[in-house]
Amino acid sequence: MGLFSKKPPCPICGGKISWLLPSKIEGEYICSNCYGKLDMEPGKASSLTMQSFREYLAFYDQNQVLKDQFVISEQVDFGVWDTKIIFDFQHKLFCMSSSPDKTIFEAGHLKSFTIKEDNAPLFEGSAEGIRRYASTVTERAMAMAPQIAQYEANKRLARTLDRLDDGKINDSAPTQYFDVPEPFRAFNVELQFDHPYWAVIQCDMNGPRFDNTRPNVNSYLRDYRISVEEIEKLVTALKTVAFPDAAEQTVGFGGAQGAFTASAPPADAIEEIKKYKALMEEGVISQQEFDAKKRQLLGI
Ligand SMILES: [Zn+2]
Repeated sequence: MGLFSKKPPCPICGGKISWLLPSKIEGEYICSNCYGKLDMEPGKASSLTMQSFREYLAFYDQNQVLKDQFVISEQVDFGVWDTKIIFDFQHKLFCMSSSPDKTIFEAGHLKSFTIKEDNAPLFEGSAEGIRRYASTVTERAMAMAPQIAQYEANKRLARTLDRLDDGKINDSAPTQYFDVPEPFRAFNVELQFDHPYWAVIQCDMNGPRFDNTRPNVNSYLRDYRISVEEIEKLVTALKTVAFPDAAEQTVGFGGAQGAFTASAPPADAIEEIKKYKALMEEGVISQQEFDAKKRQLLGI
């Protein structure tokens, strides 16, 4: 009865149906081998008919040829959740995995991409061009210095009060955590496709975090710099594979737009530039970012 009752063979391959939670299409059980080949948008997978599943399997077999020839030339990591994208520059292919074991996308399948810092665009790319937008994350992180100083002062005060209380440090006193939100939560990467089984793939790469007991702007900016380099690597790889002729342009650098520039008084510009120069010398920001910042502050 039930779990142990004999199930009919897989209508696709005639193979055995797993007794453990077998998948169904149009009410028929599909073997795990056939069903395991499914790699498409969840919305499309849930509305598959037996006919469209057979068509998908034909596509899957064609895709196998691309899997076999795939040579990894670049890999981009999205951090803890292990999302990866691998690229094959020679054959102009990419795959959302750490090895070519999922759907292989060809150059023509990628219509466009966007990368945002939360909701603020950082990159937009298509055959029309690759745009890089000025980010305010560095300024906003630097503007958090007073909040960090306040947190350190509160921590010292709490320790002092604690000592006054009974003359010794009370280790059981609750730790105070720095819980001011970071300038942004994550890079939101969205790939838009022109493909029978995929319209959009979204994935997040977490932005850097402040240490919650020892927050520090410079180490935050260093981590930010490393994340941005990974994002730049992704943009370069997407361009190489899908939009090799797209012109690159930067938007919002050096101009007078943006709330921060508008509110920065020129008298402080030199002091600000010195601060950014120090950051560049420490390797926290790049020469390019420093130059952009300098132009912005000087309004040139
Ligand atoms: Zn099967």
